[in-house]
Amino acid sequence: MHVRNGWNMRMEMKLRAGEIAKNVIIWFACILAGVELLVYLYYAPMGAQRLRFEFLISGLITAAVSLPAIIYGMILRERLTVANATMSELLQSDGMSGLLNRSAFMQRLAAFMKDAERSVGVFAYIDADHFKVINDRFGHGVGDAAIGLIGDCIRQNSRASDLMGRLAGQEFGVFLEGANLKQAVIIAERLRAQVSQASPELGIKGLQLSVSIGLAVHKPGQSIEVLMSQADRNLDLAKQGGRNVVVADLQRYTA
Ligand code: GH3
Ligand code: MG
Repeated sequence: MHVRNGWNMRMEMKLRAGEIAKNVIIWFACILAGVELLVYLYYAPMGAQRLRFEFLISGLITAAVSLPAIIYGMILRERLTVANATMSELLQSDGMSGLLNRSAFMQRLAAFMKDAERSVGVFAYIDADHFKVINDRFGHGVGDAAIGLIGDCIRQNSRASDLMGRLAGQEFGVFLEGANLKQAVIIAERLRAQVSQASPELGIKGLQLSVSIGLAVHKPGQSIEVLMSQADRNLDLAKQGGRNVVVADLQRYTA
């Protein structure tokens, strides 16, 4: 998903307005050329003066009739384009966490893996700890809010170019594009620490929200399945090691 700041959006609107204006001019020029060609063929034998007059009249009528119709058509087309873009964003996103949903995440990860440059990076498997206890003690509403909060923390600790998705109930995946293991450990550790300090926001007295994270470095030619299963293995180790930790290459990174 893209980070859309004010400057980006203004630039995008200017570009789209320019595109609409260009299309209006092209369509109008085509229609006018067609009309004037017919006028020429019909009125040319009647003399230059009559032809000039008919050119002028037909040009004015064409402009008066076709310009509003073309502009209206372009506005409708623009609305359809925006509606399609919104729809496709909704289809790809997970409403609760604000991240990509599983199928969109897997599709984009597969596209990353095909691109030699973008496939360099680290995959992070992130799973909420003892999530069932949060649901059981405080209800599913608080559990849902916790999923949203983890989504926020993931976004805040990743770059716009990273892939971030909710892969299942309380399980998330991030592909840190271009990162090496050292950088990924720093990012994952920062994310882990932020989540572990976020419990007061949920009002879960006596419980701490936390996540365990398993990392795996993507190696050239490695399949998504192998990459994810390595990260999953490290996630299992993080769970076995007491939770609220980051594990990468079989090493525990949290004190
Ligand atoms: P562990 O530390 O081993 O990961 O334990 P856990 O309790 O987090 O894991 P477990 O797999 O035992 O339980 C996951 C729970 O997450 C069970 C399920 O009810 C809950 N869950 C899954 N999806 C959602 C959701 O969308 N909303 C809420 N509130 N809970 C969910
Ligand atoms: Mg869990």
